[in-house]
This record gives sequence, structure tokens and C-alpha cells, in this order.
Amino acid sequence: MVSSPLEDLFARALGLEVPWQLARVTFSEEDRELHLYLDFKRGGNFSCPDCNNSELTAYDTQDKKWRHLDFFQHQAFLHARVPRVKCPSCGVRQVAVPWARSGSGFTLLFEALILTLVQDLPVKALARLIGEHDTRIWRVLRHYIDEARSREDYQDVHRIGIDETARKRGHQYVSLFVDLDRSRVLFTTSGKDQSTVSAFANDFVAHGGDPEAVTDVCCDMSPAFIAGVENDLPEAKITFDRFHVMKIVGDAVDKVRRAEQKDIKELKGSRYLWLRNPETLKTGQQEKLASLTQYNLKTVRAWHIRLNLRDFWNLPPEEAEEHLKRWFFWATHSRLEPIIDAAYTIKRHWDGILRFARSRITNGILEGINSKVQIARNRARGYRSVDYFKTIIYLVAGKLNLSLPT
Ligand SMILES: [Zn+2]
Repeated sequence: MVSSPLEDLFARALGLEVPWQLARVTFSEEDRELHLYLDFKRGGNFSCPDCNNSELTAYDTQDKKWRHLDFFQHQAFLHARVPRVKCPSCGVRQVAVPWARSGSGFTLLFEALILTLVQDLPVKALARLIGEHDTRIWRVLRHYIDEARSREDYQDVHRIGIDETARKRGHQYVSLFVDLDRSRVLFTTSGKDQSTVSAFANDFVAHGGDPEAVTDVCCDMSPAFIAGVENDLPEAKITFDRFHVMKIVGDAVDKVRRAEQKDIKELKGSRYLWLRNPETLKTGQQEKLASLTQYNLKTVRAWHIRLNLRDFWNLPPEEAEEHLKRWFFWATHSRLEPIIDAAYTIKRHWDGILRFARSRITNGILEGINSKVQIARNRARGYRSVDYFKTIIYLVAGKLNLSLPT
């Protein structure tokens, strides 16, 4: 059946196996298309895709077409009439073909190309490059990511970080659940309420994880996350993320400064001097800070209180609590309303803040993951749907073992 050397070459390149053969090849110079027509030997045996009964013959056929890897400047397509078999146990079934997975309009090799390119290209750019609509690419990604996730095992996961990220700046949140020891996103779901933790726990169990074996959770002070952890991860001790704790005090310093700059004009535009860590400031900024700290300002007092809390994070457990108590006393006696408020917020979350001295966990990993996700997001100028957003999160931060089709 295969006669010309060219057709023989294509047949071998495609790795065709009995009973499949290459029937003919057509080039269309005009459309820049290459069409490869496959056929099977009459009377060949096929397997039932469900029970693997392999002694079946074709019952009828359906014409199918798949996009394959380009052949130089030609887009290449495979065509075949795909048999259906009448299996005594399963009924009428379409047989599996070796070059594509069921339901896909791309060959496995073309899907492998998509999965490779999408590591470095936004989906939209990839869609333009290969001349396909991006929804078809998303469908391929979803399939391989779902499949890779279904193989994931969470048996050895004990420390989890929870944070939220936004699909667009400021709205449509998704919550991220991260394995803090392996720096990978385990789960992501819409919203940032308590039910997200239940959804995580269910997914965790489905992947062999034991919610009662989760010993530590790092999160911000959102009541939703706290209640969710107490409910669904009952053995976990919460460590409040240090960056979120410091942000509360930093915001208090800024409130003091904004109130004070009405009288002290020199404080205008100095916001970052008080919020950044002094050692990271540029020389000019350091000089400005040094000159402002000579005055007896409320802002300067608030700033010293913030710096003192910074030391807490470096202390061993036996000194950490003493330090935090002394800090609380100082802050609550500062006569600076925003600082006093911040001190009471810390008091209400005392155990979870103190817990850091023993657990030493932060959501720093999540910041890194978040920036990867946001870079991907910005390149794609937002995602049309939350589903796409979740898919890209798993792709860039799931450390999934995507088994490339070969
Ligand atoms: Zn069967």
C-alpha cells in the first residue's frame, strides 16, 4: 500500500503500527497544508478502549482529523476513518488511536509542542504562533494539568501556607494553598472565605493527604482563614505570617505620620522612609531619615516601636515571649492611637504570632509564587475566566509532573 519513498518516510516518522498504514499524502502549495491520510488493513483487529478485549473487528467508522506538527512551512493534518467496535461486554465503542487521545483535535506530538512552548509563552502569543484559537490551547492545558494533579500524592504534607491572590488588581480573589516544605501550590479555589479551607481539605483527602496530619499553617489574620483552619485542619497550629504582622504596625506608623504632617511639613513625601527597612534605603534617603529623627516627633516614636518589633522575629523561643510582652507594654503606653490599636490586634493574635519562634514558617514562598503568577497574569493581560487563572497557577507554581505525550 505504501509505495513512494516519501510516503514510507512519513509512515516511519509517525511510528504507525499494525493495523494502521499511511494511505496517501497530499500537499497543497496554495493553502500551505500537508494532509496525511491513514487507513487500516481490512480485517485488522482492534481493542475495546474500556476492557481491552483485543479480538474485535471494525463495526463502522467515523472520519476524524487532527492537527499535527508543522512540516516546514506547511500545517500538517492527519486524517483517518476511526473504527468503532462492538464489544460483547461494553457495547459500541470508538477505538483508541495511537497518535492522539480521545476527543482531542491535536495529535499527541502537537500537544507535546503546546506544553513545551507554554512554559515560556503566554497562551495568547502561543495561539497566534501556531494559528489556533486560544480556547483550544486552554483545553489541552486543562487536560494535562488535571491528569498530572490526579497523580499527586499529599501523604507527606504537614505544613501549609494559605494566602490569596487576585485575578485582576483588587478583585476576584482566589485562595492559594501551598506545601511550605516543597514550595508548590497544592490547591487553588475561588474566593477567600472560610469555605475555601473546606474545599482544600476535601481535595487534600482526595490526594491521600490527612487533614489531621497537618501540624502547621501559616496565614494572615483573616478571621475566615482562622475559622477554616480550626474547623478543617483541627491539629494544625497557626503561625501568623510575619509580613502581614509587620504590615499592621507599618500601617499604624503611616497613620501617625499622616496626622502629624499637617503640622510638620517636612514629613510630606516621607512615607517610605518609615516603612522600608533603614538599611535598604539609598544614601540620600538615609540622610533625610537621619535629619528627621533628630526631632521629637510622634512619627519617630512610632517608627522606633516598629523597629523594635522587627527584632522579635530573630529571637529564640525563650526570649521571644519576653520581648513581645515588653513591646506590647511600650506600644500600649505610647499615647499614639494607631500604634495602640495595632498593639491590641497583636494581643488578640498573640499565640499565632508567638508561634513563629518555634515553627519559623512564613509565607515568603507564597510571595514568590504570587509574583510568578502575577507576571504570567500581566503577560496575558488578565484571564477571561477564573478557570484559566487557576490553570496558569498550577502550570507555573504547581511543580506538576506533566507527562508529555510522546
Ligand atoms: Zn469492552
